[in-house]
Amino acid sequence: MTQEQTSEIKNIIDRALEQNPENKEIIKAFAPIIIRQRHLAEKPSEQKLDCSAIDKQKLKAGVPVSRQMNLILPGDPLKEIALSLAEAVKEGMPQLTENIDLIAGLIRDDKIKPADYFKSSPDGESMATDVWAKDLKVSPSNASFLMSLVSRVVLEQRAKEITAAIGAFEWEKGYCPICGEFPSIALIEEEGGKRFLHCSSCGQDWRFTRVSCPYCEKETRQGMEYFYVENKKQESAFVCDQCKKYLVTLYRAGNVFARDMDVSAISLIHMDLLMQNKGYEPMTACTWNVLS
Ligand SMILES: [Zn+2]
Ligand SMILES: [Zn+2]
Repeated sequence: MTQEQTSEIKNIIDRALEQNPENKEIIKAFAPIIIRQRHLAEKPSEQKLDCSAIDKQKLKAGVPVSRQMNLILPGDPLKEIALSLAEAVKEGMPQLTENIDLIAGLIRDDKIKPADYFKSSPDGESMATDVWAKDLKVSPSNASFLMSLVSRVVLEQRAKEITAAIGAFEWEKGYCPICGEFPSIALIEEEGGKRFLHCSSCGQDWRFTRVSCPYCEKETRQGMEYFYVENKKQESAFVCDQCKKYLVTLYRAGNVFARDMDVSAISLIHMDLLMQNKGYEPMTACTWNVLS
């Protein structure tokens, strides 16, 4: 990452802190992590996917790249990325220092192999953290937190690589065309009214129709499905009365400032709290929005 890019993400975080002082604790906790993640993901990966094997017809039919090939490659430097992120976690969340030091030490000694986390069982769930918790006495929640941060870095590199290699493609689903996760936040451009969904698992953004729910595809009645907080017209949450999911949604007039959608999502954590208290669930679980 160039110095310019590093200071851009810092400026974005500073602006988020100014605009959302009520959420400054959580923004500050995640700031060093996000800066480190963007820095690590900026370097192109040395492992290359075979992007010629990506089938655009399958994409059109709703099969994300992650279901066409493995996105995590055997040569990915997961150990180095994990150790680097462990430092950033301690910086933002000093209360986790002891637990993270234990995990980092085991990673350094190859007793914890981050690659094991990405080998999923037949039902798609990672079993590795359970094994680490049992055999190595580490906190399973802290271990999976660190591994999901690692995953984002590698998947972001892959998402950039894939979109650069295959160019434009048709995609009509509410889940991510790259990694298959549901969105963490949406952005609606006030001019033209296009809705873009953002995936926090890999950083991909894609356009999605405004007339149906991204999660269950139920058609929506215009104007009935957004929840606003008083005095804040830019922030809302889309809610679906069929699947009972919500999606925090931001309105953007013009393109004044550079934005980082993950910083925006963390800055709007009060919307998550509000919607979860009303009995709705997020479309995807992120490291910051699992509140109960
Ligand atoms: Zn994704
Ligand atoms: Zn729905």
